[in-house]
Amino acid sequence: PTDPNAPSIKAEMIDELAVKHFPMCMRNSHQKLRADHRLNHFGRLEYGLFLKVLGLSVEEAIVFWRKSFDRITDDTFNKMYKYNIRHSYGLEGKRANYPAHSCQQILTSSGDPGCPFRHFSVDNLRSALVSTYGLSSGDVNEVMKTVKDNHFHVACTRVYEITHASGGVKRGEGVGGGESVTHPNQYAAASMALAK
Ligand code: SF4
Repeated sequence: PTDPNAPSIKAEMIDELAVKHFPMCMRNSHQKLRADHRLNHFGRLEYGLFLKVLGLSVEEAIVFWRKSFDRITDDTFNKMYKYNIRHSYGLEGKRANYPAHSCQQILTSSGDPGCPFRHFSVDNLRSALVSTYGLSSGDVNEVMKTVKDNHFHVACTRVYEITHASGGVKRGEGVGGGESVTHPNQYAAASMALAK
């Protein structure tokens, strides 16, 4: 079941939401999915649970994943993926309400897809910060310094502050009240609340 307080998200809104509101890990999974028309098992689980908590219903999740895997037949989709989607919504198997993964879980995962701040090479991270997020070279250097010191949450929080400066977010405010990023859904929820 989805969080009753979460906004209701439609499958067709996700491309835009990813660009405007997702943290780097989830935006990276989204870009991978769009580029490759597939995502590995762990990526599907992690990204799927994130979208569930964001407010995507199971019906909309099935629409989203079916359209994303547009190189397979309906039959293959139904056999290979539909059960797992329903399972992550607690509608199959032991019917557990699986929470979305926290930064800590993602940071200590195998890294595929993982947290870009921890798992990307220095060159890939630098170029993603410039090309995807439009950071200036001064900001990139600042973020890379925190990454070098293994302060991945701090780096992610700083990227949030920089990319939400036009929404009034100042240095040190983090995702609200000085809090740093500890969960991808906390990042997305703060960003979406700011846009309201
Ligand atoms: Fe995602 Fe957390 Fe890494 Fe930010 S710090 S990119 S929210 S895993």
